[in-house]
Amino acid sequence: MMQTMAVNRPSSEQSAFLRILRWFFRNQSSPVRALESALRLRRSMRIIVTGSVMILLPSMLLAYFGIVSIQSEELSAMNDIQKQADGVAGSYVAQAERAFGYFEASVIDRLEAGRSPLEAASELHPNLLISLKLDRNLDVVAPFYRGPTSRFEPVEYLFDADVRTAIAAERRGEESGVVSSLYSRASRTVNSDQVKARMRFDRGRVMLNSGRRADARAVLDDIQQLYGDIRDPWGFRMEDLIELLQAEERIGREPLRGAEDLRALIDRLMDQRWAIGEGGEGAVARRALSRLEPFADAEWAASTRARIDDRMRMQFWTEALLPELDSVLVGQGTLRVDKGKIRWVQGERGLWALTWWDENLYAFALDRITLLEDARALADDIGAPGSAVRGMLVGPNDRMPDEILVRRSLVPWLVGWSMVVVPRDAVALAADLESQRSRRIGIIFLAVTLIGVGALSTARFVSTELEGARVKADFAANVSHELRSPITQIRLKAESLMLGLSDTEEEQQRDYRAIVRESERLSRLVDNVLDFSAIERGAKTYALIPGDIGESVRSAIDVVEGSAELVDRDVYLSIEPHLPPVAHDPDAIAQCVINLTSNAAKYSDPGTPVRIKVKRRNSGVQIDVVDEGIGIPESDLEQIFEPFFRGGDASVRRRKGTGIGLAITFYIVSAHNGRVDVVSKPDKGSTFSLWFPLLMREPSNRQGA
Ligand code: ADP
Repeated sequence: MMQTMAVNRPSSEQSAFLRILRWFFRNQSSPVRALESALRLRRSMRIIVTGSVMILLPSMLLAYFGIVSIQSEELSAMNDIQKQADGVAGSYVAQAERAFGYFEASVIDRLEAGRSPLEAASELHPNLLISLKLDRNLDVVAPFYRGPTSRFEPVEYLFDADVRTAIAAERRGEESGVVSSLYSRASRTVNSDQVKARMRFDRGRVMLNSGRRADARAVLDDIQQLYGDIRDPWGFRMEDLIELLQAEERIGREPLRGAEDLRALIDRLMDQRWAIGEGGEGAVARRALSRLEPFADAEWAASTRARIDDRMRMQFWTEALLPELDSVLVGQGTLRVDKGKIRWVQGERGLWALTWWDENLYAFALDRITLLEDARALADDIGAPGSAVRGMLVGPNDRMPDEILVRRSLVPWLVGWSMVVVPRDAVALAADLESQRSRRIGIIFLAVTLIGVGALSTARFVSTELEGARVKADFAANVSHELRSPITQIRLKAESLMLGLSDTEEEQQRDYRAIVRESERLSRLVDNVLDFSAIERGAKTYALIPGDIGESVRSAIDVVEGSAELVDRDVYLSIEPHLPPVAHDPDAIAQCVINLTSNAAKYSDPGTPVRIKVKRRNSGVQIDVVDEGIGIPESDLEQIFEPFFRGGDASVRRRKGTGIGLAITFYIVSAHNGRVDVVSKPDKGSTFSLWFPLLMREPSNRQGA
């Protein structure tokens, strides 16, 4: 077949490539073999190239798109986390905006409505410490004022002998006349107005409490005129003390009038500005309220107490924070703010909200420390527990975390501070992404491998099928070839006889013998082909009858002895006497012996002998067919019994054959429960042995394997 291909191929195809390959294979035994190897190599390369295109390319594409999709998957996962982070930061900033925005809006609303935003300031913002109104000179005008700068040192009050004598006498419960005259004496000896006023007030108080109302009134009126605005060593204004004392005394006698007086006192105190740094107003108001409470409406009392407490708290913080406000205002230069707008300024302790309104500056201090604490707690709180992210408040001196998803600055309220959203567990997040990635890459790798394996096994399957088809085509060609020569011979000899070309009797006899010989050969060939097809279909059966297998061999040799292959050589047949009977199909055994004998002749040089021996062997009978021919290379030994197999050697190819003789022999022997063996050495010869057991397990008809 290879020869046919080489001849039919256009010469242009025997290109440089093939020439090079032929040169490469020049050490091969023949030019035909070299060309064959070259063509085989070219076919393999074609298969490799096609395989690469069909498998490698799609696999690479699959891997590429897989990796791209993994990347986009990871990106979208990161996007989701980023979105979560954005949500967390957004919700925090929205809360902050709401709190500060509410504060700004309510301050401006109150100002626009003509109301002071200073009163009940605590409802404006939970962290509000003080709220102040300043005039254009930036002096506090409401609800406080900067009191007298020279504060009284209570030294004289605590250490003056007369003062101490009077106070001690009152504590001891001395008679009121004595106590009041002791206070009177002390008031004359002390130097400072504060102590003087206080001593006189105490004298009036003792008088009033002992029922000397007219005398007391004279004394108290006197003090009011002289020292009304003066504060005693504890910061109480004399006028407030006198009013409180009189109302308290009156409530005992005329409860309604006394209560009215107390209420008027509280209202006056709440309406007036309190001095920063002096506790008098607050203390007097509280005491008045506690006297009034048994008579007053509970709700009113509670709200009044809250107002007083609020004012006192603001007063405390105002005193503490006023220096900071001064420095903040210096830092702001001439502070101009659009009407209805608030400017936020950072102080050390307070976050200042400043706004101008009608020539006045309103200043509000929010507690920066608690604001930050609240913000930090809020930041820690946000981000659902199951979410991958969490919020964090980062100040100007804090270290920024490494993995930041979102960062929002808290300008203008908390300059330098930012809300940062970080992964809840960066390590776990990275590990999770990593494991997802390796899992997906593993799946892609598996898919690519499966495609490769699938494609390879398909290719293998297809090539096996192709090989099978090729072998059958070879077989058909071989059979036709085999048929042609006996037919030609028969026809030639018959024509020669018919035309009278064979003159002598001897010549005619020779022609007749040739016709018979070739017909036998033809019928053997046809028998083989038919048997083979029957075996393949499973339709071949053998009648196993116990008998003398030596006889069957002898009659087979008789048939084949005169055949073309055996005419010019010696055939030796030796049969061991007294062979036990073997269950066998004589025709089938004859077919095996004929196949082996004609092979022995075919694959050996003319003149070499062929020996057939039948002998007893291992509880069976063995038939050996021995030749001294070309032998069989070891690489072929395994395959010679396969249908259609023909030796690859040129010396085999030269000889005609179909490749089914040994296959049929093998089937037949197997059907007899026997064994086939071959011992062969190249150039030395081959021995084929057929062994049949004496005892058949099933001495009945058997089908071909
Ligand atoms: P065929 O002889 O028609 O090719 P067979 O099935 O009879 O087919 O033999 C298969 C192959 O076994 C042969 O092609 C040949 O290579 C090898 N072979 C068989 N018998 C012999 C032998 N006696 N000596 C050498 N080679 C043999």
